[in-house]
This record gives sequence, structure tokens and C-alpha cells, in this order.
Amino acid sequence: MPCIIPGCPNDAEHNLSVRLRRPDTSAIWAPNTEAYLCDAHATQGLRITVVLEPTSAHEIETRVCAISETTPQRKTRITKEA
Ligand SMILES: [Zn+2]
Repeated sequence: MPCIIPGCPNDAEHNLSVRLRRPDTSAIWAPNTEAYLCDAHATQGLRITVVLEPTSAHEIETRVCAISETTPQRKTRITKEA
């Protein structure tokens, strides 16, 4: 599998999953995603942002988007008042 991190040429075998735990730590659900990480990205550290979107489908749908340090970013300061 290709690594999900953009620009990473490594093969990836580590599957990202999400889990919802009860207070006793047993899982209500714990699906795998279709996202895989290589050895390097699995251990070097990640910033993870979770966005939850409620549905009424009685299923868990996962979508994983990844960016890298080389993903173009630009910040523009707002200089005008409303
Ligand atoms: Zn990688």
C-alpha cells in the first residue's frame, strides 16, 4: 500500500483505525480506515485533527485526509476592519 502522507515514496503496512470506547474500555466500534502509514511516518510523530459529522445511517464512515510539511500553506493577515 502507498503511504497516505503526500510525497512519501515508502510502502506502508500500518493501518490507521478509530475506536469509540465505553467507560470499561471495550469498544462500541473500531473500524479500520483505508489509510496506511509507512514505518517512518508511523513513528516520527503526527498531528491528528478529528472532525465528527453526525449521520443517521447506523454505520461508521471514515475519510482520512493527509497533508505534509511540504503541502503549500499561506497565512494572510486580515488588515481591514469589518
Ligand atoms: Zn510515509
